[in-house]
Amino acid sequence: MHEQVLCALCDKPEIDCKCDRYCWFCKGQYNIRMCVDGQYYCPDCREACDVRVVDSLGR
Ligand SMILES: [Zn+2]
Ligand SMILES: [Zn+2]
Repeated sequence: MHEQVLCALCDKPEIDCKCDRYCWFCKGQYNIRMCVDGQYYCPDCREACDVRVVDSLGR
């Protein structure tokens, strides 16, 4: 089962989210993806925080 993760700011899934995407941790704007806690992370902070990127396609 694919669990829908919603944006912490607008309560929409990543594909529908129109928020400005930047890393909530370091404010970086490169390669930002929503992670399983509903926050956006850059690759570095993702690794540092050990969070998984949401697979919005449910594959
Ligand atoms: Zn959003
Ligand atoms: Zn970051």
